[in-house]
Amino acid sequence: MATPVRAQYLRMKAQHPDALLLFRMGDFYETFDEDAEVAARDLEIVLTQRDMGQGEKVALAGIPYHALDSYLARLVKKGHRVAICEQVSEPDGRRLVDRAVVRVVTPGTVVEPQLLDQAANNYLAAVAFDDDRAGIAHADISTGEFAVTEVAPELVERELARLAPAEVLVAKPTAAQVGNARAEYVVTALDDASFNARAARRRLLEHFGASTLEAFGIDGSPLAAAAAGAIVDYLGRTHQAAVALLHSLRSYSTDAFMVLDPQTRRNLDLFEGGRWGERQHSLLAVLDGTKTPMGARLLRRWLGEPLLDIDALRRRHDAVEWLSAATVRLRRFQDVLGRVSDIERVLHRIGVGAALPREVVALRRSLEQAPALRELLADAPDALGWLSAEVRPCDDAVGLIATAIADEPQGELGHGGVMRPGFSRELDELRAASTDAHAYIASLERSERERTGIPNLKVGYNKVFGYYLEVTNPHLQRVPEEYVRRQTLTGAERFYTPELKEHENRVLNARERLEELETALYRQACRQLAGMSEQIAQSAHAIAVVDVLAALADVASRSSYVRPSIDDGDVIDVRDGRHPVVERLQGAGTFVPNDLLLSCADQQLIVLTGPNMAGKSTYLRQAALIVLMAQVGSFVPAKSAHVGVVDRIFTRVGLQDDLAAGQSTFMVEMLETAAILHQATPRSLVVLDEIGRGTSTYDGISIAQAVAEHIHNAPRLGCRTLFATHYHELTELASRLPRVRNFNVAVAEQGDGVAFLHRIVPGGADRSYGVHVAQLAGLPSPVVQRAWELLASHEQSGAARPRAARAREQQMPLFSEAAPSRALEALEALDLDGLTPLEALNKLFELQQMANESEGGNGRVGRTGEGDG
Ligand code: ADP
Ligand code: MG
Repeated sequence: MATPVRAQYLRMKAQHPDALLLFRMGDFYETFDEDAEVAARDLEIVLTQRDMGQGEKVALAGIPYHALDSYLARLVKKGHRVAICEQVSEPDGRRLVDRAVVRVVTPGTVVEPQLLDQAANNYLAAVAFDDDRAGIAHADISTGEFAVTEVAPELVERELARLAPAEVLVAKPTAAQVGNARAEYVVTALDDASFNARAARRRLLEHFGASTLEAFGIDGSPLAAAAAGAIVDYLGRTHQAAVALLHSLRSYSTDAFMVLDPQTRRNLDLFEGGRWGERQHSLLAVLDGTKTPMGARLLRRWLGEPLLDIDALRRRHDAVEWLSAATVRLRRFQDVLGRVSDIERVLHRIGVGAALPREVVALRRSLEQAPALRELLADAPDALGWLSAEVRPCDDAVGLIATAIADEPQGELGHGGVMRPGFSRELDELRAASTDAHAYIASLERSERERTGIPNLKVGYNKVFGYYLEVTNPHLQRVPEEYVRRQTLTGAERFYTPELKEHENRVLNARERLEELETALYRQACRQLAGMSEQIAQSAHAIAVVDVLAALADVASRSSYVRPSIDDGDVIDVRDGRHPVVERLQGAGTFVPNDLLLSCADQQLIVLTGPNMAGKSTYLRQAALIVLMAQVGSFVPAKSAHVGVVDRIFTRVGLQDDLAAGQSTFMVEMLETAAILHQATPRSLVVLDEIGRGTSTYDGISIAQAVAEHIHNAPRLGCRTLFATHYHELTELASRLPRVRNFNVAVAEQGDGVAFLHRIVPGGADRSYGVHVAQLAGLPSPVVQRAWELLASHEQSGAARPRAARAREQQMPLFSEAAPSRALEALEALDLDGLTPLEALNKLFELQQMANESEGGNGRVGRTGEGDG
């Protein structure tokens, strides 16, 4: 027989088999059995054993209750679901304490500030599938955002990549349809019932107190409703208090946004940049001068969803233009915004009853900025001025907080320092009583010393006996007779007097009632505030929009960006364009600006050649970023820019490892290229950087050329394309294909060396400067010397032959065909697609060993073309 508490534990655990159960026992949250082993390992805490009666011992690991948040953070970061089981009845020492799981913490439902990134949303998403559609809902319970859309099933992964949710809910039978190759989010498979469309509909109607889903724009979208319903259902079971914070549901269409696939997001360093993913090397970091956390989150969202609607874009540009036109005005906006804190997340904490008094005061100070902001907006053109009506005054909320809560709440809730004096007479009286009694006791020591003549008489307090007067043994004969003995110590006696007793009662009573009353009053004020949260949330959103536009205006004026002109034509014409991130990193004045002209009609495909390190990749990304920035509503780094709206940007970068997905590099490159050729439209911008590089030179040239020809010739494609390559053979295309143009990055040859000018000029590069670059990179001089000799001999022998033949010849056989060796056999047996780059490197090493062992002429590694990089 298990002890009653063990049986209770096992019952709870059976209800949450997939979660780590934190079981509250007094001052600790305990974990048992396998959970204890996991917790001990992942939290680095001690694993012990506990006797569960009848000699049954179970593993146990516990954490102190007050440290829950930090341990919780670690468990959730490690991908655990954590069920928190609290004691819900007072322990009385006789009966078993009642316990209940009050919350299940999952990556998509965390609300703890230390678990949340202030500048990014934490989304919980849900996907509902049928054969040819999918509904995707997402919610951020820390801000109350809740939205839903419907897409074709094959677009699910892309939309999830855009949202970057922490957790994705999906029905068990369709779980495999949610691709998650990089394990970017946690997939939680639920029973089918959570996604039942009828039940979902009912759940949503009930939740919103509505009679139809029409107002949310999803009346005819059962899949959207199913996905949204699954979120409500799941929250209901994991974090009931959070459900009420989803005030409304917004339906959106992904058709309104420019499509950015996951590779493009990465290649363009939108949110993280550089080799190590540093934030400060990203476009976001360059643009993010927002003053509020709401603004920071919104800017991030805008960057992920550039617009296609020309009018909407012109309005954003109008707003940025007006804000950036006068520095003084912009500073005023920024000053006001700088006094606004995270309204959205405080609202949420108020809603779930977790807000601290000082957070509520911060909310008041934020809302108090509304009038000033409205006044500033009053002068703005319509494109910005409309927001002044959206920033609601929220006077009742401000008034409520101002009358109820002290300007600087002191101490913990319940100690009397939180509510403003004058708010509640009863509370004030209690406070006075408690203070008076305290003052009496505090003065007692002095007055009794005087009265009794006992110089070292002491007033003290302990939990068991309460207040006492302590007199050491030598002075006992001076103790007055009204003193009543309370406790005997070795060197002293403790007493009380009826008067002291009375004051003690007063202090303790007052303290207890004060605690009750203050907590109740505070809770009530929070509930009232929660009732106003819809209005406040609306203001918060409007403030976020103003904040983002002001940030864009700020970077525009600081970094000399210009307003792009936008239309629905197909011309992209940029004069003196710069790369926003590289320019920032290099410092002012050193970046070399370049022009760009693309149009479907006559300059559709640019082949850009030039040596490694010349600036090809920079130029390509710069083009994509300028287009993207323009369609986010930002100004752009250029002298002038015209952008015919782009529906998708595709970027592919050759020779890039995709280790996380476990696919061989070249395979990935080809898969990605295939996706472009299937999906691009004449409105798309395609950026191909050195594709075909992950294979042998001859294969590479052939593939690169075939892809370029297809982009040019396929009638359906016609996409504007930038194609950087170190295969200067591809410059021949321009002579055969009318809409192909050659450009190259100018270099100045200086004797044996080269200087990079980073200037894009018409015409193709005639050589690749590979050896120059090797020399610049510091290869030992004998190696460089030898390379020059070899190059000269290759050029001589190849000079009279056609280029393709030369290219083929540069693929010198790795091993002599006449004498097949062990190495050659091993090479032929390799399954290239199954190799990771690291394995490939190891194989290469083995092969080299084999080749060396077999000595003779068949073991030399030849030159494999003009490697790049
Ligand atoms: P490639 O792709 O041709 O090998 P990159 O685009 O990677 O060359 O550029 C190499 C380096 O040259 C960049 O890291 C950058 O520091 C510098 N660079 C590139 N373009 C410019 C430019 N327009 N002005 C100044 N520096 C540049
Ligand atoms: Mg490059």
